[in-house]
Amino acid sequence: MQAELNRREWMKATGLIAGAWAAGRAGAAEPDASLPQGKGEVVFQRKLAVKYDVDVFIAGGGPAGTAAAVAARSQGASVFLAEAHTCLGGMGTAGRVPVFMPVSDGVNFLPGGYGRQVLDRLSKEKALPGPATDVEALKRVYDALVGESGAAFSFYTTLSDVEARDGHVRYVACSAPGGMFAVKAKVYVDATGNGDLAARAGAAFEKGDGHGRLMPGTLCSVWSGIDWKTWEASRPQGPQPDGHMLEKAFADGVFSVQDRHLTGMHKMGDGLGGGNIGHTFGVDGTDESSLTAALVTGRKSMKEYERYYRGYLKGFENVRLVQTGSLLGVRETRRITGDYVLGVEDYKQRAVFADEIGRYAYAIDIHPQTTDKASYEKHRKEFDQEFRYNKGESYGIPYRILTPRGLDNVLVAGRCVSTDQLVHGSLRVMPGCFITGQAAGVAAAMAAQTGGSVHRLDVKALQGRLKAFGAYLPNA
Ligand SMILES: Cc1cc2nc3c(=O)[nH]c(=O)nc-3n(C[C@H](O)[C@H](O)[C@H](O)COP(=O)(O)OP(=O)(O)OC[C@H]3O[C@@H](n4cnc5c(N)ncnc54)[C@H](O)[C@@H]3O)c2cc1C
Repeated sequence: MQAELNRREWMKATGLIAGAWAAGRAGAAEPDASLPQGKGEVVFQRKLAVKYDVDVFIAGGGPAGTAAAVAARSQGASVFLAEAHTCLGGMGTAGRVPVFMPVSDGVNFLPGGYGRQVLDRLSKEKALPGPATDVEALKRVYDALVGESGAAFSFYTTLSDVEARDGHVRYVACSAPGGMFAVKAKVYVDATGNGDLAARAGAAFEKGDGHGRLMPGTLCSVWSGIDWKTWEASRPQGPQPDGHMLEKAFADGVFSVQDRHLTGMHKMGDGLGGGNIGHTFGVDGTDESSLTAALVTGRKSMKEYERYYRGYLKGFENVRLVQTGSLLGVRETRRITGDYVLGVEDYKQRAVFADEIGRYAYAIDIHPQTTDKASYEKHRKEFDQEFRYNKGESYGIPYRILTPRGLDNVLVAGRCVSTDQLVHGSLRVMPGCFITGQAAGVAAAMAAQTGGSVHRLDVKALQGRLKAFGAYLPNA
């Protein structure tokens, strides 16, 4: 019931989707009833030019897709990457996510290989003014790394459909400003974050917590006019310093939604901050109506946060919103079911796998799905205590979470790999996506070279190639 009330509250706040909750569709808005409603179905048949015939096709150019492209090219495979948006980097650039989560377990550098390449390039560009990243520099770094690898890529290019028979993908269809075209590849890597390619090819998937509840999204943002010195001198100790005045602001009526979880503002340089601020509850990143409503709500809520920061936190008296992300920050959608589902017991045991392709260590970070106090306190307990590792501890990532059951020439990488929801809460962050992305890229190149199924890859050989690429594989 609590979830229902919060969802209703959110729906009301959007002012757009009054009918959606009543209709009971998870995260989706009803078609606008004032428009003439369409009926029935239509079969579209088209001949599409096969524009590319490559070893490896990659859908999506976020942290995982770019890693896959560079890694596949390092093995000599020909690669075409389709990116729907206008830049590489996904959530970390277009979504304006301000910081990289830990790249180390306190002792070892975990996303060795591609993660090292990205960070080295950023340092060279002096683009880590810290802790937040210079997002424009990050876009150029991805352009350069993927471009120099020799992988072909195009923006404004959306993977729209998949032609698959008996678990084998034969072609994909892309839509682009120049019209639709087909791509033929030996192996296909799904790095869309949402698992679009694998799901369209018929892979099974899970979403959310078993009751269909997904983590909320966040419209990340850039702010100017911050007096960092004053803030740093006055900020309280504790888990969310930016949020220490929230209850007062709720009582004062500053906010239309009482969201207790405020990740906060990250220093981006003199006067500038990267904001991971506010949540869009109930959003489903695989539904355009739901995304539209969440973007409208997110943009509206920035004015409320501007009022909060200006009025309640020292050093932010002159803060001003510069820009919000051009993509909504979506934390969670489909998790494609692979040959193995990496679960919380593996996380707790710091598991070691014979087919390990990397190790990671970030705490399980499931943002509260509702606005009540109990959900927030549960999050704090899990994130700060229950799922914290000690220095030097990490969990293994098996190759089998990249191989969707029932598809012989598809690999998944990044946010949509095969985990339970809790482990997704750890592995979903950018360094984790570098690790699964580069492994998918090398594996795809190998499967393309041998012509065999991704399920029967020589895993020892894969690990050898990954080590040569720079991967951290202490158990292989
Ligand atoms: C609000 C928020 C805050 C976060 N904070 C942090 C943080 O502080 N640190 C951290 O390390 N991580 C953070 N994360 C997590 C991290 O940013 C993402 O989980 C990560 O970027 C996922 O990488 P990915 O490559 O799997 O997908 P994405 O980054 O989502 O990239 C997917 C790419 O695929 C493209 N695409 C999607 N569908 C198609 C299609 N059909 N055809 C072609 N292209 C397509 C998209 O345009 C996008 O560029 C945060 C995430 C969110 C949402």
